[in-house]
Amino acid sequence: MHDARIVRRENCIYGVLDCPVQKQEYLLSANADFFIQNRNRSFFSYIDRNRPVQKIYKKPYATFLNLTFHCDAGCSICFANAVYQEHPQFLSAEQLVVRLKRLKSRGIKTVSLFGGEPTLHPDILGIIRIIKKTGMRAILVTNGYRLGRDPGFAKKVKRAGVWEVDIQFDTLDPAVHRLLRGDRPLSLKKRALRNIVRAGIRLGIVTTVIRSNADELPGLLEYLAGLGPLLKRVMIQGAVNSGRFGIDDFEIIDRETILAGICSAAIFHTTMHVNDFWPFPGIQPWGLYMHPDCTVVNVVVNTAKKTHTMKDLLRVPDVWKALQSIAPGRTIQNRYIKPLLAVIRGLRYRAVIQLISIAIQGLVFRRKQKIAMFVLAVESYESARFQDIEKTDFCPTLQSLKDEDVCACIYNSRGKEYHASRMSERARGEV
Ligand code: SF4
Repeated sequence: MHDARIVRRENCIYGVLDCPVQKQEYLLSANADFFIQNRNRSFFSYIDRNRPVQKIYKKPYATFLNLTFHCDAGCSICFANAVYQEHPQFLSAEQLVVRLKRLKSRGIKTVSLFGGEPTLHPDILGIIRIIKKTGMRAILVTNGYRLGRDPGFAKKVKRAGVWEVDIQFDTLDPAVHRLLRGDRPLSLKKRALRNIVRAGIRLGIVTTVIRSNADELPGLLEYLAGLGPLLKRVMIQGAVNSGRFGIDDFEIIDRETILAGICSAAIFHTTMHVNDFWPFPGIQPWGLYMHPDCTVVNVVVNTAKKTHTMKDLLRVPDVWKALQSIAPGRTIQNRYIKPLLAVIRGLRYRAVIQLISIAIQGLVFRRKQKIAMFVLAVESYESARFQDIEKTDFCPTLQSLKDEDVCACIYNSRGKEYHASRMSERARGEV
């Protein structure tokens, strides 16, 4: 357990652990200028970071519920260290009810079913139905193999009332797929994507990036955008040495190197620049914060003739400033009216017309037109070797455990005792 510092050397940011036996360094960013700019664009520009964090109203928005540690995949980079179990253990119905009650009482609206592989739960459809009955939304986070094998299963998932399916999809290169995910064929995942779309389910993609697939990201995004209007989010994250990690450390890359990969070539009719990615805006009356070192976002709208990103649709600096300056009081005006006005005032008028036209085309020619509009998020998870307590304090994610809920990074980078991570390495610093 050691304190740590964040330092800049040339154009890189490192976390430095002051261990008396052996000083350790961890690359946090290969683009220090962007890393610092991103912090300055975030709620850091107005929030008092010395104020006790408990006094700031914060609310979790993404919630994960593990149904099992049984899995049929055996990925070499599994956060959960899930394995194939001869006698699989599953979350009991009693525990499910307890957890859902607790999440509901915290005002949670969305529950992501996680694992292991949640589709192996013998009553996965019943669980989705129960969540729907509570008024919360169920998101199924899956490796996709069952959905790929069985088109009828996708339809049943849809009928059970799932809100979204988030499928793990990293690469179009079978060799990289084998390195990350083992021997199951990549074609099965592609079939799963098709079955989800055919069943009419809202789709999210979770892509894990290592050095070997960073440069293929523009092509991968084009492929995914081809799935059409049901694609709503692409969440790209770097592999971290947590849980089971069976590939070379050399393959680990930071968020900014992933961004460089995305920006390395045209995506349809545009090429993105790293500065087009923004941190999540902090919105005080919503209690919504996400630490700027974690996630940056952009929006992609692709039609047959044009590709727009967030900067083409919004005057982003003005909108972020307006959103981040809304007072913390949780009145209707602060929670709904001011955020809406901030976005409306920041719209670029040409974009409004194009968006309306896209919406009409999407409604009328849904199956014929290749139209996609999705949020592109690039995320940086914590490694077990370097935990930044400030990041976890401003984390909107929640992992639901038996007796409590913890931030997902703490959970995913746990050793035998997940508490050990939180207590072990503390980094707080200016760069
Ligand atoms: S990453 Fe997901 S699919 Fe792969 S082994 Fe772990 S739980 Fe299974």
